[in-house]
Amino acid sequence: MKLSTYTGTDPQGRTHEVHIREGRLFTRVLECDSCGLRTDATFSARARVEDHLRTHEVETSERVVHLARIALAVIIAVVVTFYIVAAVSNQ
Ligand SMILES: [Zn+2]
Repeated sequence: MKLSTYTGTDPQGRTHEVHIREGRLFTRVLECDSCGLRTDATFSARARVEDHLRTHEVETSERVVHLARIALAVIIAVVVTFYIVAAVSNQ
């Protein structure tokens, strides 16, 4: 599942996109459309993405969060709220 994408433009005007995907368990996988890089990044995925974009001379990147991730966050929030309400009303 694609979680987020970082995009930026290099001085030549080319756009580079690096995606963060969900890997196995709690790992993250970085994928670069420009050079085909595919690497694991369990921690500080964002810093790794920004480091990688700098190798393509991209200075500032923009983050695009995918709907799937937002939907997942909403589902987790609803479930947590439900359990809190259920726990409170059982007392
Ligand atoms: Zn690349």
